This record gives sequence, structure tokens and C-alpha cells, in this order.
Amino acid sequence: MYKKPQDGLLIILSSPSGAGKSTLAKQLAKWDSSIRVSISATTRPARDNEQEGKDYFFLTEEKFKNKINNREFLEYATVFGNLYGTPVNYIEQCLRNNHDIVFDIDWQGGSQIKNSKFKENVISIFILPPSIKALDERLRRRGDSHAMMSRRMQDCYEEIKHWKDYDYVLVNNQLDEVFSQIAKIVIAERLKRKRMCGLSDFVEKLKKEFESNYR
Ligand code: 5GP
Repeated sequence: MYKKPQDGLLIILSSPSGAGKSTLAKQLAKWDSSIRVSISATTRPARDNEQEGKDYFFLTEEKFKNKINNREFLEYATVFGNLYGTPVNYIEQCLRNNHDIVFDIDWQGGSQIKNSKFKENVISIFILPPSIKALDERLRRRGDSHAMMSRRMQDCYEEIKHWKDYDYVLVNNQLDEVFSQIAKIVIAERLKRKRMCGLSDFVEKLKKEFESNYR
């Protein structure tokens, strides 16, 4: 039995900004080399430690809007005043090559992917911070401008409000612990009956063996 070809999982991680989802997404790809991290496009300026094509594709608003018109995004949304979107080409290429993909995106993007042609293979996971104070401290360490940081804090509850739209909701008390919970979710989702190839044939074989020996 093995995973069906072209049946990769789309693993959506959402949380308020600063709750640890991008670290978790990268950890997931390290844990299993068949998992790819979706690289988004954005109109937000790059941070000092970010690289073009690795962390994001940094685009002007004009280029981003052209791509929207050309239907190059699987989903897109305005988050904290900037545009963010998932290029569809890369996703289709990963799925063709039988990879699972993890997305670090907000609730608006998550909802669009859950309603897309890939909806059968979507798993959605919401990460809650252990407290609002912990979120505030994480955001302060990031090096964003004061204005951007306070905007993110103001919007954090807007994101949290959507927790019930997700299949799984985890609290990031401890990164290692929450990562191990996510890994278990992925293992269990991969083993779902609908995702296993060759099960019917296998059960048919068991039936024949039973009938020829015990009837
Ligand atoms: P940041 O600017 O901190 O990298 O990301 C800000 C927020 O935008 C985060 O909540 C992140 O999950 C979300 N985000 C990043 N990429 C995308 C995307 O492609 N689509 C959507 N909808 N949200 C995204």
C-alpha cells in the first residue's frame, strides 16, 4: 500500500503573526524531505534576513496585480496592508511530483484553498499562542517597525476568531511539542483509507485466502 500518485496533502498552517508557524513549516520540511514549503509572493518589503525566492517572491504592487489578473495565484489576500499570494504553478508541480506541501498563510488564504479544486487533500491546522503577552514578545524580537508591530498586535484577534474553521487547533506552549503533534497529524492523515492505494485489491486477496482455506 502506498500514497496515491498526485494525491499530495496541502497542509495549511495559520495563526496570528508571531505564533511560530513559519518555523514549524520549515521544521516539517526538514523532518520529511518529501514535504515542500510553499513560497508566497508579497508586496511587503523584505526584512534584513530574508532572501528573494527563498522566503518570499518580493513583488511590486503592479506586478502582483498583473499576476492576479493572469490567474497565477491559488489564493491571495491583503494581510496587514500588503498583498500576499500563493503561486499556483509551484503547487501543481509539487503535486505532480507526489510531494506534500505546507502553507504558512492567513485564514483568508486558508479558506480559499479549502474551497479550491484541491479541497479533498487539504488539512488545516491553527496554532494558538500560549498567551497574548508571549505573542507580543515574539513580535518585538522580529525587527519590524513599531507601526507594523502594533498593527499586527491589533489584528491578532481577527485571526484568532477563525480558529473554529480549522481541522486541528494546537497551542504553541513549546515548539518541540507542537511540532511533534503536527507530525502525528500528518502521519495519520497520510494513512486515511481514501489516500491509500491498493487497499481494495489487498482486501480482495485476504477474502480469497479466507474462502479457499476456511470455507
Ligand atoms: P509576514 O509578513 O510576517 O511574513 O506574514 C504576515 C502574514 O501573512 C502571516 O500571517 C502569514 O501567514 C501570511 N501569509 C504569508 N504568505 C501568505 C500567502 O501566500 N497568502 C496569504 N493569504 N497569507 C500569507
